[in-house]
Amino acid sequence: MLANSLVELDRAHLIHPVSSYRGHEKLGVRVLRSAKGATVTDASGHQLVDGFAGLWCVNAGYGHESIVEAAARQMRELPYATGYFDLGCEAAIRLAAELADRAPGDLNHVYFTLGGSDAVDSTVRFVRYYWHAKGKPERDQFISIEQGYHGSSTVGAGLTALPGFHAGFGVPFDWQHKIPSPYPYRNPVGADADAIIAASIRDLKSKIEAVGAERVAAFYAEPIQGSGGVIVPPKGWMKAIRDLCSQYDILFIADEVITGFGRTGPLFACSHDDIVPDFMTTAKGLTSGYVPMGAVFMSDRVYDVIADAAGNAAVGHGYTYSAHPVSAAVGLEVLKLYEGGLLENGVKAGARLMAGLESLRDHPLVGDVRGRGMLAAVELVVNKVKKTPLPSAAAPARRIFDRAWDNGLVIRAFAHGVLGYAPPLCCTDDDIDAILERTRKTLDQTLEDPDVR
Ligand code: PMP
Repeated sequence: MLANSLVELDRAHLIHPVSSYRGHEKLGVRVLRSAKGATVTDASGHQLVDGFAGLWCVNAGYGHESIVEAAARQMRELPYATGYFDLGCEAAIRLAAELADRAPGDLNHVYFTLGGSDAVDSTVRFVRYYWHAKGKPERDQFISIEQGYHGSSTVGAGLTALPGFHAGFGVPFDWQHKIPSPYPYRNPVGADADAIIAASIRDLKSKIEAVGAERVAAFYAEPIQGSGGVIVPPKGWMKAIRDLCSQYDILFIADEVITGFGRTGPLFACSHDDIVPDFMTTAKGLTSGYVPMGAVFMSDRVYDVIADAAGNAAVGHGYTYSAHPVSAAVGLEVLKLYEGGLLENGVKAGARLMAGLESLRDHPLVGDVRGRGMLAAVELVVNKVKKTPLPSAAAPARRIFDRAWDNGLVIRAFAHGVLGYAPPLCCTDDDIDAILERTRKTLDQTLEDPDVR
């Protein structure tokens, strides 16, 4: 009864992110009620393994009392403190210091935001300020990658290369450029790692030359392209790209909003290629989704240029909720949990997940399996030889999501037939086995779908 009235209230009043408004009115909302570990329970009592950690964010899993306590303690003591007027609070200062301590190389300065989109947006502002400070305001062109996702702010949506974020919104801007994705399964140069890296280098070089080497301000890359369908570039790809940016004096931004905080094994995915970006953007796992927060990491080199140029003037960029004490207190507690065994468990669970997904390759619908750590995808095709994608209409993907749901599994079903996995790092063997078994069942049911032929 209560659930039904919620459905009506939702339909009438709540606009859902990235949803078909009319489609949602027809479908109605599925209300989640509670969660513990890797299991979520809906309003009807149906229990599901959350194979997507909410929205790739609840890395620590649900129901950690110590996180709740940390937030409550902070709320009682000091629920809000601005960072304006040279004020601050202990939790944010300590979290910045702990993060800088663990960040790659000289990423020693941390700017807290409310999430990933405003973290990306902040880097665009900082990058522009940096080039003005260097006396090169003409460096105002930005390059990112097809199938990339860099948030939903106006500027970030333009760096994003997913058509749904552009149509009708007047982006990308003419200063936002793209190069092809290093997509091993569908790369015109094939799946060979060296060939893919060489192709990306060629593509980036020719884009830089076309835009004008003296005009390119920055390049954005995700270590693994998440929202584009969990596209995993070959090892060494990011290092090659980073080195090329350095050669041209182009700032390199690693967008680790999904990959940060243990999602791929180590705390940050940059460490797989041992690179140090000029900026790193993070969010999601920073607070494990318990409260909103993002963080921009800035290198010493960039920080010094900005700080020296501003002198005694304020750098005019800030939010009311920058470095929020409650989010920072949660971030400190979550960091303790990661290092108290969660990262380690994520590596173990990730190996089990990847091995299990690999064993799905024998299924008639499975064209590709890819991933790293607790971030993975299964790409479905209707013809394995021709790699024919599922029909592009959203309906079959939606039905896969629905079937998985009924089978007790939350996954991401991308419209082009890619299933995304990003389970909490706390998953037990049983959780992982349930994800795998329910996936196979869902795929078997999908084989019967007349649209998937
Ligand atoms: N960058 C990347 C790589 C992301 O995956 C996301 C969110 N999925 C964002 C930025 C934006 O983060 P948010 O949704 O917290 O604004």
